[in-house]
Amino acid sequence: MAGEPQADCLFCKIVAKEVPATIVRETESAVAFRDINPQAPTHVLVIPKVHYPDAASLAAGEPGAAAEILRVAGEVAAEEDVTGSGYRIVFNTGSGAGQTVFHAHAHLLGGRGFNWPPG
Ligand code: 5GP
Repeated sequence: MAGEPQADCLFCKIVAKEVPATIVRETESAVAFRDINPQAPTHVLVIPKVHYPDAASLAAGEPGAAAEILRVAGEVAAEEDVTGSGYRIVFNTGSGAGQTVFHAHAHLLGGRGFNWPPG
């Protein structure tokens, strides 16, 4: 059922604390933790506790949880002091766009310069 934990999902296991992660913030519906392979000085993943395969399906199914992801990402950006220099929030969607974990997540990247268009 949509939103239910998936036994084979890495990020559901991080939510359940079955897989360790460096958690920087946790709310009723979201968890933020450091990416294991950081691409910037600040690279935090913000995920909903509920399981949806990507950001768009999360927003369609549980818009409040989708909004919470953005709210938490903004709070973590402020805590990490990257708001002044600018930061990027990325939702890779689909393997062709680089998505490798099919549990909705935002990448919060900051602390360095960024190019546009992205690679
Ligand atoms: P995607 O490629 O799906 O947009 O992003 C998945 C992200 O999850 C990648 O940046 C990858 O480094 C990160 N990741 C994969 N496995 C783990 C893990 O076990 N722990 C943490 N903290 N991050 C992970």
